[in-house]
Amino acid sequence: MPDPLARLVGELARLPSIGPKTATRLAHHVLKVPRTEVEALANALLEVKDELFHCSACNAITAIDPCRICADPQRDRSRLCVVEEPFNIGPLERTGEYHGLYHVLLGALSPHRGIGPDEIDVSGLLARLDGVEEVVLATNPNVEGEATALYLARVVKPRGPRVTRLAFGMPVGGDIEYTDEATLGRSLAGRREL
Ligand SMILES: [Zn+2]
Repeated sequence: MPDPLARLVGELARLPSIGPKTATRLAHHVLKVPRTEVEALANALLEVKDELFHCSACNAITAIDPCRICADPQRDRSRLCVVEEPFNIGPLERTGEYHGLYHVLLGALSPHRGIGPDEIDVSGLLARLDGVEEVVLATNPNVEGEATALYLARVVKPRGPRVTRLAFGMPVGGDIEYTDEATLGRSLAGRREL
């Protein structure tokens, strides 16, 4: 059993984009701050796990089911925007350019990592196409996101809806997460037919 400090460094270093140096700095920061602050952090971490879950319709992260967007009668139900991860919804919402519903795949196709259509929520998407006129593919503009978009276009189009893809004005290999709102808004407005 490692000592408590080494254990904390180990846990922190497992977080995305936290290297061993940052993990060590954060662990020493935790040692310095008052216990109440550490409790607030620990409780916030546990609350996220205890109170949030995936929307049963779109897979977004939510505390109510269906989520706020799926339940909103003002949303345009004839449009479905497909994203890879729940955190991709926020940036698209902030553009104010899109008023339809979302579908979160919970990943992207990656043959070399063994991630095929059954490992992401393609079946959930296909089950939601009733009454949908347009499927907007907003997967990331990198190799995996493009492969996913091409695959989805192939399986969705025969079922009726128009399939469009964001017209990325951002560098290839980029990520929706790191694209500014103005660029993302233009990408949505200028989406092209696949
Ligand atoms: Zn939802």
